[in-house]
This record gives sequence, C-alpha cells and structure tokens, in this order.
Amino acid sequence: MKYVSTRGKADILDFEGVTLAGLARDGGLYVPQSIPVLSEQTICEMAGRSYPEVAFTVIKPFIGGVIDDHALKAMLEETYNETVFRHAAVAPLVQLGSNDWVLELFHGPTLAFKDFALQLLGRLFDHFTAKRGQKLTILGATSGDTGSAAIEACRGRDNITIYMLHPHGRVSEVQRRQMTTVLEPNVVNVAIDGTFDDCQALVKACFNDLSFRDDVSLTAVNSINWARVMAQIVYYFTSATALGAPARKVSYSVPTGNFGDIYAGFIAREMGLPIDKLVVATNSNDILARTLQTGRYARGDVHATISPSMDIQVSSNFERMMFDLSGRNGAAIASSMQAFADCGEIRLAEAELNVARGIFLAEQVTDEVTKKVMAAKFRGSGYVSDPHTAVGLKAAGLLPESGPARVTLSTAHPVKFGAAVVEATRHQPQLPKHMSDLYEREERFVSLPNSVDALQGLVLEGRVQ
Ligand SMILES: *Cc1c(COP(=O)(O)O)cnc(C)c1O
Repeated sequence: MKYVSTRGKADILDFEGVTLAGLARDGGLYVPQSIPVLSEQTICEMAGRSYPEVAFTVIKPFIGGVIDDHALKAMLEETYNETVFRHAAVAPLVQLGSNDWVLELFHGPTLAFKDFALQLLGRLFDHFTAKRGQKLTILGATSGDTGSAAIEACRGRDNITIYMLHPHGRVSEVQRRQMTTVLEPNVVNVAIDGTFDDCQALVKACFNDLSFRDDVSLTAVNSINWARVMAQIVYYFTSATALGAPARKVSYSVPTGNFGDIYAGFIAREMGLPIDKLVVATNSNDILARTLQTGRYARGDVHATISPSMDIQVSSNFERMMFDLSGRNGAAIASSMQAFADCGEIRLAEAELNVARGIFLAEQVTDEVTKKVMAAKFRGSGYVSDPHTAVGLKAAGLLPESGPARVTLSTAHPVKFGAAVVEATRHQPQLPKHMSDLYEREERFVSLPNSVDALQGLVLEGRVQ
C-alpha cells in the first residue's frame, strides 16, 4: 500500500513514511493510493470477534507489510484492551431507543474518542523510531481532547518530544489539567494567546517551513496524520457488525469538528461496510453543514460553545473528502486550497455536491438545543451525555426512525464537560477512579503569543538543552 498527497506533488510514501511525515511536503494530506475493499464474508466473520481481532483485519491492508503481522497483532492487543480502555468491550454500544444506539468511545485514558487513534499512534512512533534509531519532535494543536490524548500516548517515550498548543482559556478545566499535569520532561504544554484555528495555523506554518521541519524532525499528531484516520475506521466495523451488518445497514451521527472521525466512517463505507448515511453533527461552528447546504466551503468566525472540541471553522480533513469528490485530482485540490487561502472560500461543483449529499446529512445544533437534548435524554432514559454527544444525538433525528440502525458516536465522557452537564441535567458526573485526584495535581505550561517565531524559538531552544 502506497500513499499519495491530496495536492499531487509530494513524494509517494509507504505507511511508515506517512506516519512519520504527518502533513505532506506540498501542504496536502496523505491518502491511500486505493481503498482496500473487504469481502462480505470477511465482514460477516467479524461478528463476535474481539476489538483487536477486528482491528487487525481492518488495519492490515493499510500497513502494506511495513510491520510484520505478528508485531502488528501484538501492538493492537497492547493498545485495545481493558487496562488501556477501561471497558471489556473497548467500544461498547448502549441502546437508548428501539432503533437508537450510542457507541461509547470515551473509555480510554483521557476519556475522549481520540485515545483510539493516539494510543495506537504513540506505539507506531515508538516502533518506527526504534527501528530507525531516530528522534522525533511532535507538534500539535488542540481544541482540548487531542492534546491530552496525544500527551498520554507519548509521555515518557524515549525518542519523542511533544509540544502541544492549546488556545489559552478556551479549553475546559478537566481538559487543561489532563494536559498540564503531565510533568515528564518530554512533554511541553504551550498556551497560545488566540483561538484553536490560530494554534492550527501556527502548526501548519511550522510544517510548511521545510528547513525547520527537517532540523527538528517534525511530526504531526493532529488528525491530518493518516494513521489516526485509519485507527478510527475500526469501531465502525465493530459496531456495525454487532448490530447485524453486513445483512443490516447502519447509519451514524458523528459530532464533527475537523472531519477526521466522520471521514473514517466514509472510508469504512468505501471498504464495503454497509453504512447508509453519515450525519455531520456540528455546533454553531457550522462550516461543514453550510457547505453541504450551499456548496460553498467558506470560512466563518469561530464561536465559543459548550462543545469546545468542535469549535473549528476550518476542517483539515475535509480536504481528503474533496480529493475523493474531485475524482482524486491533486492539481485541482492544490488550486482550490490556494483559492481558499487567498479568499477564504471554495465552491464545490454541482456533481460533487450531489455525491456528497447522497452520503452525508448535516445539522447545526445551538448550545440551547444541546442542553435541552442532554436534559431530555437524562429524563427519558437516565442517560447522561456530554455536550458533543448531545449534538450528535440531536442530529441523529435527521435519520428515519425505522430502517438502518441509528448510531450516535459518543465522543467524550460527560465528566470532561461537567459544568455544561450539571447545568443541563442537575446531575454531577464523577471522575473515574484512576483520575480522581486530577484537581490536586501540579500543573505546568508555557505561555506564548500567536507568533511562529516565538514557537520555533521555543522548540529550537529545547533541542539545545
Ligand atoms: C475531536 C472531537 C470531536 C471532533 O472530531 P473530528 O474528528 O475533529 O471531527 C468531537 N467530539 C469530541 C469530544 C472531540 O474531542
């Protein structure tokens, strides 16, 4: 399996190459040259298998032989088990209505779905750096959950230093503490005076500075890294087959920000999993919903909401989707993305829009409605959901009540966004035992202005010491 850039100009790489590179050198994102299709028989056989077993079947074709089967199996078993994800099913389904399900993806070490990808990515980095005798600098931006999940995946690893940027004062206290209380010397938390999009722009600027990039062996953990998308494909397979696929179709409502999680669902569908619809569930930062409605992918202002991990107006992974919609035309994507950088807008062709509308539905959900949904689900079934999940639960209402099973991805544990949960439901969610002392732990972070020079200075300084 080889990987190409969405902008058509970067070197074609193997899985090891794209995992270590993150962003492609032409500014694009890496995607597989072709999507492997699993037979109906293979999908049938997934029912009743353990999470790591299904993961092996789904992931193996993407690895393209750069990790041998035995090592890959061991890595997946070490990642997806009850000590890392504190639930025997790893990704359990909970039934809320006759045809409604929640796929709980928050049982990992940092209580959000990002652990699924990052726990694997940390181990992949370890595997490849050890093999190459190389050191890596990881640079990431987080609107909250990526940061802690990446830090948790990299803490104490010998060949990795991780710099994690978060927008100062714009992440929840639990989210901040999960990052800033990790005191290992290979972890540097940076609070940026700006928004999440500013943080993401700083990261992109560092990656686009090729000499800096080479000097410090820069690698990404944001969802621009293909390995993250790949890891997220797995739980679509485990959940759909548990609900009767391939005989029965399943639709998913996905709380969406950077379009990584839902894009993994799109890939699962391309691989042959009978997914009917994918619902893009957004808060009032609705660039994707507007794009599907109007055909214009146009930047808007970022609004702070009670679902802050989706307070994003530029969805990096949407470039991968546009690449697919364009018939995999790298030159066209390169010029579209240039136009977007220049004027903040791209227009999708009518034909592309029709293809997208055949697969994706979208709904934007306000904070007020989100709170009402949290309250109603708590009253109706005693189910406590976090605000991101509640956005998804509302948007799942776009799907017909009878027909394909309706699954909402639950992307975070309610305790991570406790204040919003208490306000909506008067119910105080509890921290799991393994992090009950989070509020007593010492915090450490560096504050920086929204400046590429300041950031590069910090990273280079770290190299010297
Ligand atoms: C990151 C995140 C999302 C958005 O996922 P994307 O892959 O960026 O679309 C949704 N909910 C939570 C809790 C998250 O942490």
